[in-house]
Parts: sequence; C-alpha cells; structure tokens
Amino acid sequence: MTDAYAVFGNPVAHSKSPLIHAAFARQTGQDMHYAALLAPLDGFAEAVAAFRAAGGRGANVTVPFKEQAFSLATRLTARARAAGAVNTLRFDADGMLGDNTDGAGLVADLLGNLGVGLAGKRILLMGAGGAARGVVMPLLEQAPASLYIVNRTPDKAISLAREMAADSAILSGGGYDALDGRFDLVINATAASLAGDLPPLPAEVFAADALAYDMMYGKDTPFLAFARARGARVADGLGMLVEQAAAAFEVWRGVRPLTAPVMRLLREA
Ligand code: NDP
Repeated sequence: MTDAYAVFGNPVAHSKSPLIHAAFARQTGQDMHYAALLAPLDGFAEAVAAFRAAGGRGANVTVPFKEQAFSLATRLTARARAAGAVNTLRFDADGMLGDNTDGAGLVADLLGNLGVGLAGKRILLMGAGGAARGVVMPLLEQAPASLYIVNRTPDKAISLAREMAADSAILSGGGYDALDGRFDLVINATAASLAGDLPPLPAEVFAADALAYDMMYGKDTPFLAFARARGARVADGLGMLVEQAAAAFEVWRGVRPLTAPVMRLLREA
C-alpha cells in the first residue's frame, strides 16, 4: 500500500511541499503519496488524529500550527525542543515523534548551496517569531563570531536570546535602534516581506561580501532590493524550503534525497 504523508496548515493551498515530496519520492523510488490538508484553526489535533487513523505515516506542519504540533508530539528531537516548535511529525507504533528541520534546512542551504561559511561570521537575524526561533540553535552550532537577533518588538528578541543561551557572549538581541556595525550575513525571518514591507534597517548594515537572505521565496522582496542596491549578494528562501523538506523526508523514509534537481524544478515552475 502507498504510504500517505501530508502538510497541515491554514492556509495551505499555496504550499509547494506536495510538489517537492513527489519529486523526492520519484527520485528515490519511494512508494508514497503527499497531500496538502487544510486544518481548521481550532481543529489541528483532530485533523492529525483523523489522518493518522486513516493510515497516515507522518506530516509536515506549517503556519499557524507549529507550536500545537510541539505539544502534540509524544517524543521530541533535541532540535525541536530547542526551537519550541515542530514542523515534522512521524507516526510510530509507540507514539508521535516531533522534529524541527527548518534550522537544518537554512544551514544546509547556506553551506551547501550558497557556499557561505558561518564560522567566525557576524550574523544578524531579523525577527523573533516561529521561523527565527527554529534557526537560532542551528546557526549557533556553526560557531559564528556573533549572532544578533533584532526585532520590531525588542523585548521579544531580548527574551529569545536569553532563552536560547542565557550566558552566551555570542548571542544577544534588541531593537533596530540599537543595531551597531556591519554584518556578513543578514537573515530576514520576519513576516515583513509577506506584506511588502522593509524592516527599518540602517543603510550601512552590510559588510563587504555580505549575503542578504530572505526566508520568503517566490518573488523579489523589498529587503532583497534594499540589499542588492547596497552591493550585497542576495538569496531567497527556496533553498531552505527544499532542504528542510529533504531533512523531513529522511526522518520518514531513512533516505536523503538530492535537493539540487528539485530546486531547479521549482525555479523553472
Ligand atoms: P511569525 O508571525 O511567527 O513572526 C513574525 C515576525 O516578523 C515577528 O518577529 C514580527 O515582529 C516580525 N514582523 C512582522 N511584520 C514586520 C514588519 N513590517 N517589520 C519588521 N518586523 C516585522 O512568522 P514566522 O516566524 O512563522 O514566519 C516569518 C517568515 O518566514 C514568513 O515570511 C515565512 O513565510 C518565512 N518562513 C520561510 C521558511 C522557508 O522554508 N523558506 C520556513 C519558515 C518560515 P513583532 O514581534 O514585532 O510582531
């Protein structure tokens, strides 16, 4: 019987995950089907339970259910626990494993696809929501010189930094007014691009040879235009999307698919 997987979100119709996982399944010869399922805003746990009861083997979870998935899982990986959010569920005989592959996806895209080393770099992470939370620990594991979390609501950046590494000399957080110096890597993990907005960055935020990375994908954003105009290299979040999916696929199937052909497929589409 074909194994069933799905992504749960609300909204979810725009999701590229079914396309990505269908391509991974073809490439690796796995007999599986992957659907996008809209869960009611007040009915996520019930939707997952029904899918599992009908034979589902695992799921991805997207906005706004990642924290609920964290509570639903009966076992958590260390990276999911650190993130406080789950984007990958695997249904096992003895329970439900919760994992978070977003941070691994970002790091794999930066190191593997974009050729950007993170050791010794000054990193600026914009945003203190779910996406930012998921990438802080994986970025710190790459031994940057510093990681500064900046947020429109500064208190959220300060408390996220404290929560992730209370006594770290490398990690700190604050508001845009307190931004100091230039950064080798500036990551936009805010929802500003979704609304066509630019976070209030100072003009001189980019170091020489800096990379500006927007987690949003599918269209040019004010942040990437701002960075390009200041001489920075730019990248969107499509690579992160495909890499986090590859990591989830491996959690479910024990096989690591190649991501480059799938990224090409998506860019052409
Ligand atoms: P959340 O709603 O959890 O967080 C939103 C964050 O954006 C908050 O820090 C908020 O600040 C900030 N923000 C919102 N509007 C503005 C603005 N106009 N100016 C400055 N800051 C702003 O969202 P997520 O963290 O879940 O998602 C953020 C983005 O990341 C989305 O675009 C999402 O699509 C993308 N994403 C991409 C992934 C990929 O694989 N490529 C994976 C996951 C997410 P405040 O606290 O002040 O409200």
